[in-house]
Order: sequence, then C-alpha cells, then structure tokens
Amino acid sequence: MMRQSSAVDPCRCPLCGQSNACAMALASATIKAEAASAPPCWCTRVQFSADLLQQVPEEARHKACICAACVAASEDISKVKLQGEGA
Ligand SMILES: [Zn+2]
Repeated sequence: MMRQSSAVDPCRCPLCGQSNACAMALASATIKAEAASAPPCWCTRVQFSADLLQQVPEEARHKACICAACVAASEDISKVKLQGEGA
C-alpha cells in the first residue's frame, strides 16, 4: 500500500505544479556534497502566510517549496484584504 501516485516533487510548487526554483532543493538534487554550502534560497527570506501554508497538501509540507509566483499572489491578496478592511 504505497502512495506512489502522489509522490512529492521537492522541485515543484505544491500549489500550481510549476518549478519552484528553490535553490536549496536544486542544490540537494545536484551536488549533495555541497548542499551545506549552497546559497540560501529566496524562500528562506520570505514569510509564508498561514493561509498560504494551509493550501499546501499535508504530504507536501516541509518537502516542496511554494514558488515565488504563488507567494507573490498570496501577498497581493492579503494586502488587498488589509486595505479593504480598513483596519
Ligand atoms: Zn506556485
């Protein structure tokens, strides 16, 4: 009873299925020996909102990065929300 059909690809965004261009995933996939000295990915500098993380399938969490496009989209949405609510 393996769940091979839903294997998580660490190089793909779990939300849109596009390449997430995660530097860390890329490094570990190509040169494992140098993974420790790999340049930090952009994904370590951005804050993923709780709403965005909740959209990621349970099995993909902490395995596949969300791509920049989806992060940007979620930020736009949350900004619009904040402005719209006029807090
Ligand atoms: Zn995406």
